[in-house]
Amino acid sequence: MNIILFGPPGAGKGTQAQLIVKKHNYFQLSTGDLLRNEIKKKTKSGIQIEKIISKGNFVSDEIVNELILQKVNNLKYRDRIIFDGYPRTINQAKNLDKILDHFNEKISLIISLTVSREIIEKRIVGRVTCDKCNLTLNEFFNKKEIELHPCGQEYFIKRKDDKLNTVMSRFDIYEKTTLPLIDFLSTKPNFHKIDGALNIDEISAKIDVFLNV
Ligand code: AMP
Repeated sequence: MNIILFGPPGAGKGTQAQLIVKKHNYFQLSTGDLLRNEIKKKTKSGIQIEKIISKGNFVSDEIVNELILQKVNNLKYRDRIIFDGYPRTINQAKNLDKILDHFNEKISLIISLTVSREIIEKRIVGRVTCDKCNLTLNEFFNKKEIELHPCGQEYFIKRKDDKLNTVMSRFDIYEKTTLPLIDFLSTKPNFHKIDGALNIDEISAKIDVFLNV
């Protein structure tokens, strides 16, 4: 089955996606990661994407939909994808339905993580990611784990769009653009809300209940 993880920046979508990958053998498809990979390649479109992301704006549906199509098309991922950070607009949601339909697949679970602005502020400003293995930790809450990380603590980097003003503008954009999407997704029978302020293991246990049925 395919899963959508939905929620504002800093809600814990990436962390929960990584746990589902580990525990249940799924593939994480994070549009944010795919876009950051494009930036790393320093292509013409990568440079454009970097400008958009650093302001906290959305990359065009055209670019993102194309990245999604390439992945869904890959047999390796068939029917075991966690969509993390996608869809973010109603247009993207409709596009996803269309692509999955084409491959005779569907979304079987939609998890919406709800978190307040205050919590997000604390979480994102401290967020660091290992450039080697992509593990995400928080420099305020995970000091020891960062120190002992097997890849080496020097690999932890901060995302350019994790500065406080960018984070808040990303949250505002989320509320304006993405929230109406909840109205659309919540009409689906497999839509579930989970309190994203709970700790990582508590949220993971709630998700497991849906995955083990
Ligand atoms: P994320 O890693 O999901 O927080 O995404 C980081 C940034 O990538 C976002 O703030 C957007 O600028 C861009 N992005 C990620 N996913 C999408 C998407 N589905 N549609 C448009 N832009 C996206």
